[in-house]
Amino acid sequence: MAEAAKRERRLQGIAVSPGVAIGPVFTAEEKEAPILRRRIQAADSAAETSRLDAAVAQSRAQLLKLRARLAILPEESQAEIAPLLEAYVQMLDGSRLLRGARQRITQGLVSAETALADTCEEIVAALLALPGDAPGRRRRAEEVREITRRMVRNLTRTPFRSFTNLPPGAVLVAEGLRPADAALLEPAKLAGVLTEEGGADGHTAILLRALGVPAVLGVAGLTAALRGGGIVALDGGTGEVVINPGAPARAAARRGILAYAKERQRLAQLRRLPAVTRDGTPIELAANLELPAELPLIAQSGAVGIGLLRSEFLFMNREAPPDEDDQAETYRAIVEAMGGDPVTIRVLDWGGEKQIEALANAGMVPEVPDANPALGLRGIRLLLRQPELLGTQLAAILRAAVVGPVRILLPMVNTPAELREAREQLLRTARRLRRLGARIPEELPPLGIMVETPGAALAADALAQEADFFAIGTNDLAMYTLAVDRGEAAVATLYDPLHPAVLRLIQFTTEAALRFHVPVSVCGEMAADPRLTRLLVGLGLRQFSMSASAVPRVKQAVRALDIEEAQHFAAAIMGHSDPERIRALILGA
Ligand code: PEP
Ligand code: MG
Repeated sequence: MAEAAKRERRLQGIAVSPGVAIGPVFTAEEKEAPILRRRIQAADSAAETSRLDAAVAQSRAQLLKLRARLAILPEESQAEIAPLLEAYVQMLDGSRLLRGARQRITQGLVSAETALADTCEEIVAALLALPGDAPGRRRRAEEVREITRRMVRNLTRTPFRSFTNLPPGAVLVAEGLRPADAALLEPAKLAGVLTEEGGADGHTAILLRALGVPAVLGVAGLTAALRGGGIVALDGGTGEVVINPGAPARAAARRGILAYAKERQRLAQLRRLPAVTRDGTPIELAANLELPAELPLIAQSGAVGIGLLRSEFLFMNREAPPDEDDQAETYRAIVEAMGGDPVTIRVLDWGGEKQIEALANAGMVPEVPDANPALGLRGIRLLLRQPELLGTQLAAILRAAVVGPVRILLPMVNTPAELREAREQLLRTARRLRRLGARIPEELPPLGIMVETPGAALAADALAQEADFFAIGTNDLAMYTLAVDRGEAAVATLYDPLHPAVLRLIQFTTEAALRFHVPVSVCGEMAADPRLTRLLVGLGLRQFSMSASAVPRVKQAVRALDIEEAQHFAAAIMGHSDPERIRALILGA
């Protein structure tokens, strides 16, 4: 029996955070906080509301302490974790969760725990029933559940999981790991993390990646296999887990650890090197920004400027849309932080998978959602119907454009008329601001468009005559070309940006842009994949914008390129029409 327990076993999970680890198993179990479903007397509702308030205050204090702890983490990790803690803290300030719980205590006459748990489940059910962006909604639902668990734990005085006796060099093994727990881990003392639950796009995964802790989540059968402890090895790049590794597997793990450390050192050195091909052609590598908290990460990445600022964050998690001053201040801070490097601000891209409560509250979006949100009132379509919304944002951008170079990007444009109408509004806004004596640049910022529908791509020659620049949004372009929802797990294997139809649209758009001397970039996820750099450069693209963490690897790919060779490679790829053959040629798969 003892022999059988020691036998080497291999399990497979989801690779969420690269790096190899080997170490003794440390299991950190946590008792669920009990929720006693209790009714209360009307006379006790004030006391019960006070219990809830005390739990809110205690939870806030815990989260603020956690936030203060962030300062000891690497900047990269802070940038990932801060917004998450921010979301939790915000939910403790007059959120729907607390409003609902208070109402349930006073009107439904139930205990604070019961009120919280019921309101939480109601919000989660509503969130999960919304159309589009399944991973985004699941993440949001997990945030609501997480803050509820914390408050219930405080109400019931159930202790939190403690990592204080985690031995150095151990591999943490758990059924599941909450994001806030992941934020408490000390990367330097921990070899790796393994959990039975969890997925690649959850916050726990994001945090583990940010902390640089090798991790594999969603390993079926893990806790049962490791009940007796022992040694475990994991590869966070492939998702492989080896329980009780024998001598060859241990040696392989040690080699993996060394190789990964060397690779990281080498990538860090790239930061200061220019992004030029071997034959000296400069390639612009900019960063995408979804949250201001990413700025430190962008500064560290070696990215030059922001090629896509997704302004949706400004409108999220709030009751009403931000006003002009609010927006101007945020854009100005970002433009200033980029120290003279250009910032491309995309105006609000509402619709499709991106739903925003503040706009619904302000009556700016239809009450009844479109039957087909991805094909509905998205991006520029909504903005042109809500001139005030667009005008306010354009005014704020113009005011920020005095502190550094700015470009304005319009989402989901299909026709020159949409671009023209937006330009007229930009000119009107500029005139209004000048009349009011506001400081805006002499020369207005360039006005460009996302090319992210097949219609826009195929009309690229017409659009190129009016747009100041193009940004190819390959995420939506692939979705609309193939009629495959980019956020839907059931069709995930059919979502293929390397499908020849998508590649031909990218090629057509790029060639039109080059013919009309319109700067063109790629800012969808394709830009972040170093295996695609050769093809995209070969097609004539010279500007890319991607998540900051992808910049070093893409820079490495750029520095290994020869333009002429890349052009031959791209021509060869474009000669194929079989998606599988193309995939094999590019990815070697
Ligand atoms: C895209 O569609 O490729 C893009 C960059 O925009 P978003 O992902 O914000 O829709
Ligand atoms: Mg898009």
